[in-house]
Amino acid sequence: MADGALRGTRLGTLSYETDENVRLADRQAVYYDCSCGTTIELPFSLEAEIPSVWECRCGAEALLRGGQWPEKKPEKPVRTHWDMLLERRSVAELEELLTESLDILRSGVDDFYESGNKGKKK
Ligand SMILES: [Zn+2]
Repeated sequence: MADGALRGTRLGTLSYETDENVRLADRQAVYYDCSCGTTIELPFSLEAEIPSVWECRCGAEALLRGGQWPEKKPEKPVRTHWDMLLERRSVAELEELLTESLDILRSGVDDFYESGNKGKKK
């Protein structure tokens, strides 16, 4: 530095990268039409795999213009509590348990009312 002055550069505003060897990917505009009337325009690289649906702001799925709805994957049947229960017990067993439980419940309820009327027993 001949003049002895310190020279700084403005960080952030200057890029030391050159544009050489940098090629922006070719882009294409892709449109999605939502049933709510919204059109979504998205730039995609030409090499990108374009999804056939895009989630709209309204929450619905917008369909790629000119595209087709993807076939719904066969959904895994949801295992309910009932299904899990049946894996452990047969219906006959459950009936029995239900009867037992009802008996206990009923006797408990009776106790509850009785305890109010006659004082505690048992
Ligand atoms: Zn929408």
